[in-house]
Amino acid sequence: MNRVKTKRHVKIVCTLGPASSSSEVIKRMLKGGMNLARFNLSYGTLEEHSRLISEVRLLSEKLKLPTGILLDIPGMKRRAGDIKAVFGQHLDFAQSQSADFVALSFISSARQVKEVRALLKKMNANIPIIVKIERARALEESDGILEVCEGLMVARGDLALEISIEKVPLAQKQLIKEANHRGKPIITATQMLESMVQSATPTRAEAADVANAVLDGSDALMLSEETATGSYPVEATETMAKIALEAETLLPYEEILRESSQDILPEVNDATARAACYIAQQVQAKAIIAFTTGGTTALRVSKYRPQHIIVAVTSSETVMRRLSLVWGVFPVRKPEPSTLEEVFELAREVALETGVARKGDLVVLTAGLPLTLPGSTNLVKVHSI
Ligand code: PEP
Repeated sequence: MNRVKTKRHVKIVCTLGPASSSSEVIKRMLKGGMNLARFNLSYGTLEEHSRLISEVRLLSEKLKLPTGILLDIPGMKRRAGDIKAVFGQHLDFAQSQSADFVALSFISSARQVKEVRALLKKMNANIPIIVKIERARALEESDGILEVCEGLMVARGDLALEISIEKVPLAQKQLIKEANHRGKPIITATQMLESMVQSATPTRAEAADVANAVLDGSDALMLSEETATGSYPVEATETMAKIALEAETLLPYEEILRESSQDILPEVNDATARAACYIAQQVQAKAIIAFTTGGTTALRVSKYRPQHIIVAVTSSETVMRRLSLVWGVFPVRKPEPSTLEEVFELAREVALETGVARKGDLVVLTAGLPLTLPGSTNLVKVHSI
């Protein structure tokens, strides 16, 4: 059964490493709140990463917990050079593993991202790109970079070395604001629960950092050493999930929705997704059910940060895994409905199966007609289960 197991909207990225390489630990991390597994290709061997990727996928399938695989690719820290020479081998690996995301290190311009995209295209690989913002130049060019990538990571570790540490909290807020505005996912990363490398509980300051990253508007929070090499990988995951869930109770959902209505584009997809959030709020629906072929309908709804869980229904395994990064989205895989009647029936089935609604409850359903055309969100319906 595809039951929604948490009310948490913010996603958790856990870096896997020697401390989290057994199936028992991975299983407990999945149950504890891991939504994406990150593999840092600066460490370990590709064989070991490949083994762990298979393990995560196997357990995710078994536990019915959709989980994305993010491959973090080392970049041009010291050497400048041809994009192919720097990223080529790891992009090949990403393609061979059907990675759900690649994260690119030490990017400094939108042009470099476009070059990586061109290289992926040449390889016939369609993998979403997350750009790690850790260079001063990338921070200056963040708007242009956001335009050409699928998401950002605030890589606070290296960013602090580049722009000085006191500027990092402000850079974090600026980047989150920009990414939220564009409706692209953003991950806040590094040292979030650092003391949990050695201790079973975090410091008060770390708890505040996690909570503040949620309130800033992060789509996802990331654990690095805490889960890769630390002594308490499961506890770190559970602790982050608990703090995030608590912090979310303070998110000003109505205000966010109202404010995000400024500078909106005259665009049907966007207007439909926004209307779904407004209606869900007014009729106190139990959930928003978004039918999505390529994932964009779910992303658009998430952009408006509804308090309700967004159940994304897709027929694609790849889309389902990629939606694991998106704020508030619980992805479910179902065969593509072919008529509107089938959409309504499937919405009922999914609402009951996921446990988001019971008989007699209202849900708001959003989809695009024609049904198989990606990127055409144009239908909202209040649906009684
Ligand atoms: C960082 O620098 O904060 C970061 C996430 O990158 P890495 O873990 O590759 O150093």
